[in-house]
Amino acid sequence: MRDKMKTILVTGGTGFIGANLCRKLLQDSKNKVICLDNNYTGSLDNVKDLLENANFEFIEHDVINPLNLDQKIDEIYNLACPASPKAYQGDRAIFTTKTCVFGALNMLELARKNNAKILQTSTSEVYGEPLEHPQKENYRGNVNPIGVRSCYDEGKRCAESLFFDYNRIYGVKVKVVRIFNTYGPYMHPDDGRVVSNFICQALKGVDLTVFGDGSQTRSFCYVDDLVCALILTMKSDDEFLGPINLGNPEEYTIGELSQIIKNKVNKNLKVLYKPLPADDPTQRRPDVELAKNKLKWQPQTKLDEGLDKTIEYFKNKLEEIY
Ligand code: UDP
Repeated sequence: MRDKMKTILVTGGTGFIGANLCRKLLQDSKNKVICLDNNYTGSLDNVKDLLENANFEFIEHDVINPLNLDQKIDEIYNLACPASPKAYQGDRAIFTTKTCVFGALNMLELARKNNAKILQTSTSEVYGEPLEHPQKENYRGNVNPIGVRSCYDEGKRCAESLFFDYNRIYGVKVKVVRIFNTYGPYMHPDDGRVVSNFICQALKGVDLTVFGDGSQTRSFCYVDDLVCALILTMKSDDEFLGPINLGNPEEYTIGELSQIIKNKVNKNLKVLYKPLPADDPTQRRPDVELAKNKLKWQPQTKLDEGLDKTIEYFKNKLEEIY
C-alpha cells in the first residue's frame, strides 16, 4: 500500500535552519512542505531552487498574526524567530517577544485545529548565563529577565510554557527542542553570528572581530546534523515531549575559533578586540545524553569538516553579492 502524503508546515522556512530543513524534508517525495516566513531575517533566495518543486509552497506570513490554511496540516516545525543577537535585540526587541509568544500561540492553535504534531525550536538561551556546565535539560537556567537578551530568552521560555500547557489542557502533540549554536550553508553573511562573521571577514581580508577577550565558549553544531535531529524528534513517540538539547558538545573558546578560521582562510589576518555585548554568556555546552538515548542521534560532523563546507558556501555567496 502506498504511504499517504504528509503536509508539513515549516515556519521560518526561508531562514538559515528553515531552508536546510525544507530541503531535507523534500528529499522524501511523500512530503509536501509549506514554507512560511515574513522574510525579516530569512530570504526567498535561500529556497529559490525549491520553488520549482511541486511539493513545495511558499507563503509570506508573519506568525505574530493568526494563520488559516485551506489544507489539512499533519506536522508543524515552528522555527520562526530572529535568532541572532544582532537581529533580535534593540529596536526589534518587542517584535521578538511577540514573535516568540504570539507565534507560539498562533501555531499551537493551528496544530489544535488540525490535530497536527507541533515541534517548537527553543534555544540554549533558556539557560541564560549557566551556572551548571555542561547544560542538562533539567537545569532551569539563569536568565536576566530585564536584560537586552531577555526578549529572546524569556520569549522562548514563555513559548516552552505554552507548548506544555497546550499539551496538558488540549492534548496537543508537542515536542520542544533546545537548539545550541548551529552553523552552515544558508546563514546570512550579515547575520552577525560568530561563525558567519569570522568566515566572511576572513574571506574579505579584514580583521576578525573578537568580542571581549575571546575566553567565552560555545559548542558548534553543523546544520545537517541538527536538521537530522529535528526530524528524528518529530518522529519520536507521542509521549516524548522533551525538552531535549540538540547541539554538538565539542566546546571551543571564541579565541580558538578565530585562530581555526584564520588558519583555514588567511593566516595573515589580525584579531580586533571589541567590547563584550551585555549578558553574553561566558560558557555554553550541551549535554546530549538524552538525544543519544531517545533519538539514537549524535552529531557526525567535526568542526573542521563543517567549517570547510561553510567556507565554500560563503565563497560562492560573497561572489554572488559583491
Ligand atoms: N562574537 C564575537 N565576534 C563576532 C560575533 C560574535 O566574538 O563577530 C562572540 C559573541 O560575543 C559570543 C559568541 O561569539 O560570545 C557567539 O556569538 P553568536 O552571536 O554567534 O551567538 P550567541 O551569543 O547567541 O551564542
